[in-house]
Order: sequence, then structure tokens, then C-alpha cells
Amino acid sequence: MRVAILTSEAVPFAKTGGLGDVAGALPKALRAAADVDASLVLPLYEQTDRALLRERIIDNLEVEWGGERRRVSVWYSEAAGAPAFLIDAPHYFARPNLYGYADDHQRFAFFSRAALELLKRLGSPPDVVHGNDWQSGFAVAELHSRRAFDPFFARARTLLSIHNLAYQGAFDPSDLGWMGFTRRETRDAFAHEGAAVALKAGLMLADALSTVSRRYAAEIQTREQGYGLDWLLRMRRERLVGITNGVDYEVWNPETDPHTAAHFSADDLSGKRECKLDLLRRFGLPEEPDRPVVALISRLVAQKGYDLVRQAAGKILETGAFFIALGAGAKEYEDFLQSLHTRAPHRVGVYVGYAGEPLAHQIEAGADIFLMPSQYEPCGLNQMYSMRYGTVPVVRATGGLDDTVENFDRARGTGNGFKFIRYSADSLLGSVYEALYCYAEPDVWRRIQLNGMRADNSWAAAARRYVEVYTAVKRM
Ligand code: ADP
Repeated sequence: MRVAILTSEAVPFAKTGGLGDVAGALPKALRAAADVDASLVLPLYEQTDRALLRERIIDNLEVEWGGERRRVSVWYSEAAGAPAFLIDAPHYFARPNLYGYADDHQRFAFFSRAALELLKRLGSPPDVVHGNDWQSGFAVAELHSRRAFDPFFARARTLLSIHNLAYQGAFDPSDLGWMGFTRRETRDAFAHEGAAVALKAGLMLADALSTVSRRYAAEIQTREQGYGLDWLLRMRRERLVGITNGVDYEVWNPETDPHTAAHFSADDLSGKRECKLDLLRRFGLPEEPDRPVVALISRLVAQKGYDLVRQAAGKILETGAFFIALGAGAKEYEDFLQSLHTRAPHRVGVYVGYAGEPLAHQIEAGADIFLMPSQYEPCGLNQMYSMRYGTVPVVRATGGLDDTVENFDRARGTGNGFKFIRYSADSLLGSVYEALYCYAEPDVWRRIQLNGMRADNSWAAAARRYVEVYTAVKRM
């Protein structure tokens, strides 16, 4: 089975969020779990560390674009534990950020076309082209029409994975023509409420669809969480599966983590106290390890529940807990975090910006309680990282958070975190208080920590499910 995974980000090459972690881990997991020859195709960005690249394997890949032929080169790497091909098109990708440009649709349509050209040049047709999010919608659409006349792709099937339905890649439909999407059926697939929408084309034309948790697969078929595409997902629900992301336990492992001050495990948690002291020092907070640390790492967007955090922060601080937040995004939330720090500099630690891996690991290792009060959460990774590091998640029961966190039951000693249902600051606070009560009783707390640390969210199970989907789609 030969699978080409197209993605706009993958660890260790480029990452802004969960997709980066997932795309970086999946090919390796597929190779380990089954006999799948999986490789990655992604753009080469300015931020990609050149030391990760092994060689430039192609220097003259020709891509038809706007009526002319553009030449790009392709770099090869095995830094993700599987073959990765990085498309070097500086005109589109040598920019400070991964996303957020007016021509994003052109950038990823170009990437999609170059990726298909690359597969052809590599010479062995893929059984499955596995695209991710709206950026791969173009490749799915192109392959759908191309396999009718290009024998190389005749047997290739497509899977499109939705990591976040809210990001859809809408653009002016007048760009479709010059970008080469001229067939009637293809244009119809893009058309959505007067715009062209890359994700919609992909959802319409892919042979199979997946998303990153079971619960989210059901939620996106509802009007409330369907972002205008619920009807399409209902229409194609027989083709849609939910596969919960795994955790790369080679990267997120408190026993071997190169970024943390000490190591620890479920059998010996003593190192966690050292990690906590180290974390407090890093944020210039007093070294008081018995005081609980409530932490948060996320993109600063409304989706992550920052409005609730803003309303609840004062009350959380009144309990005497430390509050540590890492995030980048909307200015209003960045300002809120800065002002919270100014208000209580001995209790609040804030890092505004994208910090990269080390600080995220140090927070996971040193914190006691991890907040994820999301409005919606396709899968969520940090709650699973938290559990592995003995940090207890407090989450809203939505999407993947609901699937992976089980509410702690004191009488039975079961559960690995705290969940609340209603999207309100009071509900969030209720769960935080409950967690803090348990924190005050070391034996109870240890029970919750161990339940989380022993949970198995590894990639192996998820990889096997992807293989099932690939196998089914290959037979279509
Ligand atoms: P999403 O994909 O919606 O951003 P996830 O929980 O699935 O949310 O994944 C987020 C990933 O990005 C985690 O690995 C998290 O540690 C990381 N992350 C988010 N914001 C930052 C930041 N400011 N600095 C470093 N890492 C971050």
C-alpha cells in the first residue's frame, strides 16, 4: 500500500497547531503498524530548519500554472521518521508566516498541483492520496478530474481529513479559471454561497472523508457546528469516519523528554516536582511547589474558550493558584493575558507568542491542572499530552475532549480529568474548584494522575484505523 500524505504543516518541519503534530507522526506510525509505504509532501517554508533536509532530489519539477510552466525544486528528508518531500517554491512559501496571506488559496493550489507532479515524477502511482484540511482540497479536486484522462493516476483514490471545519479556504471564484479548475463539475464542487471554497470541493470530491474524533464526526453534521457544510457532511456520512488522533510518545514522554528539567514516570513522580520548580523559575514566579499551577497552551482564538478564561481568571487567582499561559493569536486575548500578569505578577506567568516545542513541554511537565474550555475541539492534543505528564486536564465536553477525558469519579476511583458541559465561566469554575479540592488530597490526586498517565492514546490504534480506511477506499 502506497500512501502520499499531503499537508500544509508537519513536525519537525513546520507547525502552528495540532495538524503539524498529527501529520508529523502519522506516516511513521503507519510504517510501524502495517506494511504501508507512507510519505509526506509539504511546502518548504522559510521557518523550516534547513539542517533537517538531506538533499535536493529534484531541481526542475515543472508545474503548469496560469498558462505557463513554473519550475520548482524538491528536497528530501527522513527527519519525520518516514520519507518527506518538501516543495521549494520561494515565491509562495519564503514568507515569515505559514498562513494569513491574501493569496493563500493560490499558494496551496500551487502546492497541490506541484505535489501531484512530484508523485508522477517519483514514478510509482500512489494507492491513496491522503489530503488534510482545505489546503489539500485543490489536490483532491484535481485528482478527481485528472484520473479520468491521466493513466498514471487512474487507480489513485483520495481521503480528505478534516482537522478543523471552521477553516475552509474561501476565495474569489474568478481565480478558478486561471488556476486551471475549468471543468463544470469541479467548479460546482468549489461553489459555495457565492464564493469558491477549497474545503467544500475536497469534501464533495474525495472518495472518503475522515475527521479527528468520533464525537466531532457527529458534531459537524449538525447545523450548530457544521459551519455551513453540515448538509454536505450529512449527505456523505457513509463516507465519513472519526479517528481520534494519537500521541507521539517518542516526542511526548516524561521519562525521556530532552526539554524538561527532570524525568518522571507513573512509578516515580518525584521528578515532576523538580519540573514544577523549574517552570516557576522560568516564569519568574516564587518557588512554592505546594501551590497548584493551572496552565493553558493554545492558539489565542475564540474557539479555545478564551472568553471563559477571561471571565474566570480572577476567581481562579483568588484560590491562591498560580496561572501560567502560553499562546499567540488575537490581540484582545494577548492584551488580557498581559494585563492579568500586571495585576498579579507573583501569581501569573505569561508567554505571548509562538514558543516552539521546549516551553510547551516544560509547561506540560511542570503544571498540575491544564485548562481546555473549548467552544469546540475537533480532537485536541494537549489534554492527552497533559495526561501523560501527570497534569490533570479540565475540559469542556466537546469533540475529542469528550472522547478522551473521563470525568473523575471519587467513589470508584475512575476517570482522568474533569469535564463540564455548558459553555459558561461558572461551569468552568465549578470544574476547576473540584479539581483543586482533589489536589488538596494527595492520595486522591495521585489516583487521577495515574489514571491519566496509564491511558493509552498512542498512534498504533489510530494508524490501524487509517489502514482500514485506505484499504476500503482502494477497493472503490
Ligand atoms: P489546534 O490544532 O487547534 O491548535 P491542538 O490542541 O490540537 O490545537 O494542538 C495544538 C498544538 O500546538 C500543541 O502541540 C500545542 O502545544 C501547540 N501550541 C499551541 N500554541 C502554542 C504556542 N504559542 N507555542 C508553542 N506551542 C503551541
